[in-house]
Amino acid sequence: MPEGDTVWLAAKRMNTALAGQTLRRGELRVPQLAATDLTGRTVSEVVPRGKHMLTRFSDGWTLRTHYRMDGSWHIYAKGARWRGGPAFSIRAILATDRWDCVGYRLHDVTLVRTAHEDSVVGHLGPDVLGPDWDLDEALRRLRSHPDEQIGVAILDQRNLCGPGNLYKVEGLFVCGVHPWMRVADVEDLPALVERTRGLMLANRDRPEQSTTGDLRRGRDHWVYGRKDKPCYRCGTPILRGDQGPDLQERITYWCPTCQATDAPVDPAARTGEADHPPPFATAH
Ligand SMILES: [Zn+2]
Repeated sequence: MPEGDTVWLAAKRMNTALAGQTLRRGELRVPQLAATDLTGRTVSEVVPRGKHMLTRFSDGWTLRTHYRMDGSWHIYAKGARWRGGPAFSIRAILATDRWDCVGYRLHDVTLVRTAHEDSVVGHLGPDVLGPDWDLDEALRRLRSHPDEQIGVAILDQRNLCGPGNLYKVEGLFVCGVHPWMRVADVEDLPALVERTRGLMLANRDRPEQSTTGDLRRGRDHWVYGRKDKPCYRCGTPILRGDQGPDLQERITYWCPTCQATDAPVDPAARTGEADHPPPFATAH
């Protein structure tokens, strides 16, 4: 699952390959843009905005793409074999004399006037990896929904954009915050946001995503993907549960000891099947 740091690194590499270059081939393989030929346009820059990527052209247009769950951009030296997936999964091809940038399984492929980018990304909160990061504005947006579960609020890109499920889960653990706690009950909300951002900053220049500082597989995350395994801090088995609105549930992991809370919980919190233990089964 791509996070904001994945998109940040991809945009940085795409910018290196494309900025200032004229496209020798520019195809968009989505129905509504199939007739659009980008060949001959010059790329001015490629920038990330949360989990969206904006490829700006010198003629005042921007190509917006989004990874969602499964998308990715691959960069190949001219002549190299493309290996990102079957041809039918290709949504965009931006090629220069030296590089082929191939977008697989991209979503939200849209062309907009650069001056009107806000129409596609204007709803987003402050970008945790952006040059204009604004902690106060992110906190203001989070606190405007005090009853929201913190594990849901951190993922809502209208509050702050960039974090995905991995950094949500790990940031909550590092700060000892239970995922089902109400936003209003989180003792140190600024610390939670800044620690989560710090985890992403530490990873944005590399493809690996380690939140522990250890890059070894199995040691790279505190609780994410570690259901039933002992907590690295206290030894308690890690729990896993679904969180979020129906049909948009995301798997959450937490340590019931390190992230224990006495705060009241949302009665709608899912209690789920045996494989998804109730959120407070052993929290007290
Ligand atoms: Zn623990």
